[in-house]
Amino acid sequence: MSQTITDPVRLEDTRRIPPPDPDLEPLKVNVYERMSKAAAQLMPLFPYVHAGAIVPCGNVLIGGPEQSYGHFFHWNTVSEVVVVYGSNRSLLASGQIMATQNLHGVNSFLRDEKDPEAYAVIVVTQHQGESGDQREALVARCKKCKAELIRHEYDATPPGLPGYDGARHGGSDDLVHQFATTLGSAEFADLRNTEAVRVCQACGHENVPFSRAEWGWARQVDQTRAVNAACNSLREAANATEKEGQR
Ligand SMILES: [Zn+2]
Repeated sequence: MSQTITDPVRLEDTRRIPPPDPDLEPLKVNVYERMSKAAAQLMPLFPYVHAGAIVPCGNVLIGGPEQSYGHFFHWNTVSEVVVVYGSNRSLLASGQIMATQNLHGVNSFLRDEKDPEAYAVIVVTQHQGESGDQREALVARCKKCKAELIRHEYDATPPGLPGYDGARHGGSDDLVHQFATTLGSAEFADLRNTEAVRVCQACGHENVPFSRAEWGWARQVDQTRAVNAACNSLREAANATEKEGQR
């Protein structure tokens, strides 16, 4: 029995995705593989953070007797979506998807951060702005009276928009840009731990220092600086060798 094909899909009529930008090679990353070796939370999984880019950032939160993630608030002018790639004894379930509000609380999302069996692998994806300036802030509150200890607001305008700050996030000689959120977060952690900020102006409570190791922001900022310096020094060495060869 022969089948009659009716109404075949005409490719001309379907919506087409434009071919990829030749400067932005399509890349594939396995979040489990990449995050097993990552230096920091909120690590961009791909090197694309330009205006309009979709930026998925990996996190691995692990419980343990020495762990202390603390708590802070993140405010972002662009939208973020959270996808949980696997968790145990966490407030977020495996496979859970959640759109955050512009101002949202951040902690380990583990039921008990001292529990060595607790973990969560989470990807937070933000959609970079396509016009205007992008701004973010990290806020710390007093543990006792909830008064605001510090609000560190910073510019996060992505490369490709007029407001992009190359001096802050990386110049044209730099192979890798600083990720604005990580740079701002590292600054926040330093400010949050100063005596003047830690001791609450409202109630006098001496808040314990914010633990930086679990988040790894300063390490990522330093590593980004170091790899750019290394890359530039190799270029200089190559230029010097080339000049010597021409003599
Ligand atoms: Zn207080």
